[in-house]
Amino acid sequence: MKDLLTVLKDWEAVIGLEVHTELTTLNTKMFCSCPIEFGAEPNTHVCPVCLGLPGALPVPNRAAIESIVLAGLATNCEIEKRSMFYRKNYFYPDMSKNFQTTQGPVAFCMRGWLDLEVNGAAARERVVRAGTLPLLAEDGTGTASDVTGAATATPAPPIAQLDGYVTHIGITRIHMEEDAGKTVHYGGTDGRITGATYSLLDYNRCGTPLIELVTEPDLRTPEEARLFLQQLRQIYLTLGISDCSMEEGSLRCDGNVSLRRRGEVEFGTKTELKNMNSFKNLHDGLAYEICRQAEVLESGGTVRQETRHWEPAAKRTVTMRVKETADDYRLFPEPDLAPYDLTDEFIESVRARLPELPDAKRQRYTRDYGLPRADAANLAGDASLSAFFDATLQSSPQVARLAPRIANLLLNEVSAWLNAHNTVIENSKLTPQHLAQLAELLAGDSISSKQAKEVLAQSAETGASPQQIVEQSGIKQVSDAGELEAIVAQILAANPDKVAEYRSGKTGLIGFFVGQAMKATQGQGNPKLINEMFTQKLEV
Ligand code: ADP
Ligand code: ZN
Ligand code: MG
Repeated sequence: MKDLLTVLKDWEAVIGLEVHTELTTLNTKMFCSCPIEFGAEPNTHVCPVCLGLPGALPVPNRAAIESIVLAGLATNCEIEKRSMFYRKNYFYPDMSKNFQTTQGPVAFCMRGWLDLEVNGAAARERVVRAGTLPLLAEDGTGTASDVTGAATATPAPPIAQLDGYVTHIGITRIHMEEDAGKTVHYGGTDGRITGATYSLLDYNRCGTPLIELVTEPDLRTPEEARLFLQQLRQIYLTLGISDCSMEEGSLRCDGNVSLRRRGEVEFGTKTELKNMNSFKNLHDGLAYEICRQAEVLESGGTVRQETRHWEPAAKRTVTMRVKETADDYRLFPEPDLAPYDLTDEFIESVRARLPELPDAKRQRYTRDYGLPRADAANLAGDASLSAFFDATLQSSPQVARLAPRIANLLLNEVSAWLNAHNTVIENSKLTPQHLAQLAELLAGDSISSKQAKEVLAQSAETGASPQQIVEQSGIKQVSDAGELEAIVAQILAANPDKVAEYRSGKTGLIGFFVGQAMKATQGQGNPKLINEMFTQKLEV
């Protein structure tokens, strides 16, 4: 099989995603008052409504409707004031009602969009032609329109040579539905039904409110699909409507993909990939499927419309089932639920609750604090780190000038420490004031970046202030020119042969000299200053 980048030279991939998200932060299910709890004892959170026993009547959960409206507003959707629930009829053992309550042609949220910024290596998969997309300037500032204007006959160079691009992804709808239970297979391999000797059912998850977002077929590369899902997850996390765990299945994504020859307008036949339970699986599954379809088409075959299963270990997709059509489900209006009417007051009260979203935050970080584009995006995409960053900057007006350094500390040293200790910043003893202090110490050259790591670790573990730690443990950086001059002179005098070698062109020896001086100062010398001193003395 050809590799992805080769395939994408001749073929354009067309991708649309269907993203299911459980509203895990709600207390109760969609149409009954059973609690929502992951990992509870099987079949303890069930009642006649979520099991679909005779005579049970559903009552919609208002908080769930608020969540979906929040999701819609955050993704630029129009909120439909009147929508209905439908029954989607089918049999599956984990759904004892024999139908899923879902929405019909009109969902709570319709016609939204998100702008996707694709940077760096992620941009490599897209071949951009003149005038088709706003490009990012190479210096990373704003969008440059250097490839706009009437499309010329010569295509623009592949995007890899530029910094990135922005692409507009349409959102068809976000509708409300309910989750099914879980079937657990025993005796087979990988928990699959094949080869299992028996299966058990857990109905706890039945009736958990689920929102399904469907995109227009506007994505063009596996990287764009991955970025879209990441961006959506960040938005949902910021809204606080779900814990969005791909591992535990509260965020699940199906990828639809087809190919067409470059320049062609008609879409090809798509396949749908299930089981994309990580960002990597989504990317790799789509990439595999694109290559597989290209091989089928190039050998004169046709792609069959079907649902396929991505097997990450075997690195391949296999047929699950040939697609049913909507008619097979006999979708009809749910007779037990009246059409749902949303008032303007309700929608406005939800809008008032919208927090600052990652995209706005990212723009604020570059605009107000001059953070580099990538740092701003990474920070804005992490709800807990960005809250800590904001708190650090609010801790004193003097720290604004240190913002890029603080962002850098959070994204590197602090994140590394949190990962190593398998914890989150809220559970560490680091405070915004202490982080600001650490940045001050670094900025004033009082400690080296290596020492900063140590001080940070101690502060995060014990809650002591960096100032205190530095004073008590004697960690300091020697930046006193007089003190360092003497050491530098000593080392030069003790190594005349090395000095001669350096002067005859072996300038790599600077590392040796700086190393000697660091040793002499017990690691407390300011390496930058020492380096400058040696260079000056050696170059005469
Ligand atoms: P279906 O009726 O098979 O469920 P839909 O029209 O509802 O298909 O679309 C489901 C998803 O597939 C959407 O995300 C949509 O953008 C995407 N999609 C539709 N047609 C194509 C295509 N030809 N290639 C790739 N994706 C597509
Ligand atoms: Zn129930
Ligand atoms: Mg569909």
